[in-house]
This record gives sequence, C-alpha cells and structure tokens, in this order.
Amino acid sequence: MNNRKLIWQIFPPNLLITLVAMLVVSWYGSTALQKFYIEQLGSALQARAYLIRDTVSQLMADGKFDELREFCRKSGREALTRITVIDLSGKVVADSNEDADLMELHNARPEIIEAYNGHTGTSIRLSRTLQENMLYVAVPLKLDGGNDAGKAEADRTVYGALRVAVPVTAIERTLENVQIKIALGAIVVIFAAALVTLLVSRRISRPLEEMKQCALRYSRGDFSQRMSLHKGGSVSLEVATLAASMDRMAEQLNERIRTIVRQRNELEAVFASMSEAVLAVDTHERVISLNKAAVDIFAIDEKRASGMLLQEVVRNIDLHRQVKQILENLEPLQDEIILQYGVSERFLQTNGVPLLDGSGRNIGVLVVMNDVTRLRRLENVRRDFVANVSHELKTPITSIKGYVETLLEGAMDNREDAERFLKIILKQSNQLYAIIEDLLSLSRIEKLSESKEVDLSLGNLHPILDEAVQTCQMKASQKNIRISLNCPEKLQARVNATLLEQAVVNLVVNAVKYSEDASEVIVSAEEKKLDDGTNRVVISVRDFGIGIAKKHLPRLFERFYRSDKARSRKLGGTGLGLSIVKHIAQTHGGDVAVKSQEGQGSTFFISLPAVSPDKSDGKG
Ligand code: ADP
Repeated sequence: MNNRKLIWQIFPPNLLITLVAMLVVSWYGSTALQKFYIEQLGSALQARAYLIRDTVSQLMADGKFDELREFCRKSGREALTRITVIDLSGKVVADSNEDADLMELHNARPEIIEAYNGHTGTSIRLSRTLQENMLYVAVPLKLDGGNDAGKAEADRTVYGALRVAVPVTAIERTLENVQIKIALGAIVVIFAAALVTLLVSRRISRPLEEMKQCALRYSRGDFSQRMSLHKGGSVSLEVATLAASMDRMAEQLNERIRTIVRQRNELEAVFASMSEAVLAVDTHERVISLNKAAVDIFAIDEKRASGMLLQEVVRNIDLHRQVKQILENLEPLQDEIILQYGVSERFLQTNGVPLLDGSGRNIGVLVVMNDVTRLRRLENVRRDFVANVSHELKTPITSIKGYVETLLEGAMDNREDAERFLKIILKQSNQLYAIIEDLLSLSRIEKLSESKEVDLSLGNLHPILDEAVQTCQMKASQKNIRISLNCPEKLQARVNATLLEQAVVNLVVNAVKYSEDASEVIVSAEEKKLDDGTNRVVISVRDFGIGIAKKHLPRLFERFYRSDKARSRKLGGTGLGLSIVKHIAQTHGGDVAVKSQEGQGSTFFISLPAVSPDKSDGKG
C-alpha cells in the first residue's frame, strides 16, 4: 500500500507552491528594481552628457583637443564619471580615464552606433579597458553652424559621439543587498507559510485520523465509541457531516449485528436442543456443522470435527454412500442407517437434502437423523409377539384338532379312550383359555398404564397381600406348601389393590408351581432405603424350589419367556405371568427384580415408591 498520510499530501505541495511563488516574486522584484535603477542611472548619465555636450562640441570645433582632454579628465573626476569623446571614424578623441591615443577604435560599440544614428545609445558591458561592468550612455555630437545652422536638432549632421559611463558595480551591490533582503523575507514567509500549512493540515487530518481509529474499532466489532467530533465545532462541515453519517452507519451496523447475533443464538439454541441429529457437510464432504444430538450419537469430539472429512468423523459406510448420492443427484434422500455399539444396535432414519446457497448453487448436504431404535425394537417386539402368540396358540389347537379327529375316526366308540382324549382336549382348552385370559389382562394393563388411567390410592398393603395369599392357599395346600406372610400392619403405599393383588398372586402361584411338595413360600413387605437414597416399599415372594439358571434371569420378565418350557407347559403355564407382574409394577411407578440360584429357590421383588410422611394423608 503506497497511500500516504493526508498531512503529507497537503503539506509538501503547499510548501512547494509557496516556494515557487516566493522565487517568482523575488526574481520579478529584483529584475524590476534593477531595470528601474539602470533607467534612473541612464537618465542621470544622459543629463550629464547633455550638460557637457556643448562645451565638448565647442572645444572639438575649435580643434582644442588638449583642452578637451583636460576638460574630460577634470569633469570626469569631479562627476565620478568616465567621459569619452569619439569622432565619426570611431577614433577616441578624449577620455577622462585613459590615454586616448592608446585606445582602440570605438565605432563598433552598440551605444556609439546608436549615437552615430542620432539617438541616445545605452549599453551595459564589461569595459575591456577598465575591466569592470559599466553603464554606457552615448549622445550624438552634432554640427551647430554651417549648412546645419537653423535646422532642427534631429536633422543636424552627426560628427561624433560623447559617451559617459559609470561602473554599475555599485548598483549591483545595492541590488545584491536588496535581493538578500528579499531572500531573507522570502525564507521567513516560507517558514511562516510552512508552519501555517502544517497547522492547517494537522487540523484537517487530525479529526480524520481520529475517525480512522474509530472506524478501525468498528471493524473489530467495538461500537462503544462514536465519532462525535462534530460536537467540538472545530472541524469542517464536511468532516462533521461525515462523522455524523459514520455514527449513524455504526448505529445501524451495531443494531444489525446484534440482530444477527441474536438470531444466530436462537438458531443455535434450536439446533442444539433438537432431538434429531443434524449434520451438514460441504461439497468436499467436510463437516461444516453438527448439533449436540449428532455429537452424542456418533461420539464425536465436537471441537475437532469442524472441517474434518465425514469419513474421519462418522464411520458408517451407508451414511457416506447417501451423502455421495445426494451430492451427485442433488435430490433429497430418505433412508436408514444402523450404528453398531458393541453388541447393541441403533437405527437412524436419515433425511438428506442438498444444501443450496442464495443463488441456488449447491454448497453441500444437510442430513437430519431420527433415532428410530425404539420404534424398530417395538416393531420387532410386536412381530416376535405375534409369532409367539401364534406359536403358543398353535400347540393346544393342534393337540385339540388331533384328538377330535381321532375321536371322529372311531376312538369315540371306545369309551375309555374317548374319556381320556376328551380330558386332554379339556386341558388344552383350559390352556388356550388361560393364554387368552393372560393376553387380555396384559393388554388391559398396558392400555391403562399408557393412558395413565390407573386408579392409585393410598392404602395398607397387609390386606392386599393377605388376600393374594388366601387366593393361592388352595393350590399350595394341594402340594402341602405353607405360605407365610410378613408385612407390618401399617405399611402403606399408593396402589391399585386389584392389580397389585393379581401381581402377587402370579408370583405366589409360580412359587408354589416351581417348588417341591411340603416346602415353604414367604411373602414379605417392608420399607427400604435404597443405595441411591430413595425409599421404596419392597414386596418379595420367596420360595425354596427349583430355582432358575443365571442365564435366564435377564429375560425372565419377557412375554412367553420360559426357563423350562416343558415343565411350564406341563404345569399349565402361559409364559405371561411375570410379564403381567412387570407391567403392574410399572403402572405403579415401580419395578421388578429377581434373585435365584438353581436348586436353592428364587425370590421375586416388586418395589414401589414409598409414600413420604407428609403425603400419607390417605387420599388417592
Ligand atoms: P409361566 O406361566 O410359564 O409360569 P411366567 O411368566 O409366570 O410363566 O414365568 C416365566 C418362567 O419363569 C416360567 O416358565 C419359569 O420357567 C420361570 N419361573 C417363574 N417363577 C419361578 C419360580 N418361582 N421358580 C422357578 N422358576 C420360575
């Protein structure tokens, strides 16, 4: 950048103009003065020549050359003037300073030629005789009498020239003095002008300099100060108007920047709080931006991700393929990708669109990803469920169909066989009924829990558990199993008595079912402080039966999951009992758990939120 400061643009040209002006004025002044001096001196010399011309003419006419020379010497000395008389041939007749006989012909001198022509001749020259600059004035010597008598001065015949001369050194000295004074004056004027120009330039440039600083601050985004120079009154109208305009511009700019920042923050907040993962890449597949959900899903280092290749940030071939396809076709694309997290999977529904700038040019791809893992899992669960239900129903129905066909094919005739077969058909029908019954109650509980319509009320647990124990008493006594109940009379919880009783019955029935004869089942309830600091009411059903292998425990509460299929079927189990228990616990805001050891027995737990003392007002 070769731009110079304003002060250096104003100051030097001004100085130069002043300098040139002073030089021109000085030159013109001194020339005019010199001309004036010379003219004045010329007139004086001419007057002196005229004063002595008559005497000289007389002496010449009389041929008194010695007298003439003496006259010239004397007059010259007195008047401090060199006087020379020259005849028409150019020969010097008399000279005040030199010996006339030794002097050369003077007819070629310009002033003499002029005088020969009848006029006054003037010339400034270096005198070869005296070796100094002289002003020469020559006047013509004209005949007075004879043929010219009575003629006008101009018409008389010239017969010689009278020349008077003075050295001009004195004038030159005087002029030099004057020129020195003019030069000194000019220097003073130049200095004064330079100072004034400097001050004026600074006065013009300083507010502009301050405005520049202010503008620099604006460019850095600092709008805290204004160019309020116009308030001072010392700046020019143009600068004040410019400052005011800049202030207005800064105001608007500040406002606009604030709006943009606010909008950007709002957008960022929206972007960050979106549950969908959003990822934007440029046309070279480099990450432009991504939101928090994307960072979480892909476990990305947010700070490093920006500017990195998509392939480096997200290791998923399907996503890379989709982005490439959108960049090639410039058309939106909906698809799905699966992310592997160790053994588990996450399903993401992807919606990709080409990113276009204001002029419609493609600048990358925006992909919005929805986590549909839950949906897919639910779909899978539903599919499995339908398959399981069909399978569960198929077994008794196939059996019933087979026996009915056998009966129809003639087994009916044998009463003993017929009775046996019909008993099996009845058992299978009961099994069918139980399955359907359990399915219905499961869907009823699910519906209640989804619509949050379960009617919970604060009540004592003891009567509910006692009722459940009573319900199972018959089955237990058939196997000679003793059921004992340990529950504080006053232990309370917010429960739906019917549902909770059903859950406990299911657990107790299982405990009886999977226990040897003459064993024991213990139903307990107590309030416990858990490790996380919360209080829970925990109901447990413990048996000392066959127990459950460890590998089955995690899936035990799934629908139709059985640890021992053959035994469960034989005992008329549906595989839905524990699933119902789990759903009932969840509708109470609680949970289920199991502890078991093969051959030692099992304990099932239902934990419910404990009622804090201030809420135990008995109202539901
Ligand atoms: P089922 O109707 O088959 O009993 P559940 O859902 O009630 O179905 O139980 C699921 C499976 O859990 C049972 O098939 C059984 O293998 C196992 N199970 C449940 N309770 C016990 C228990 N107290 N002791 C041993 N195994 C049990």
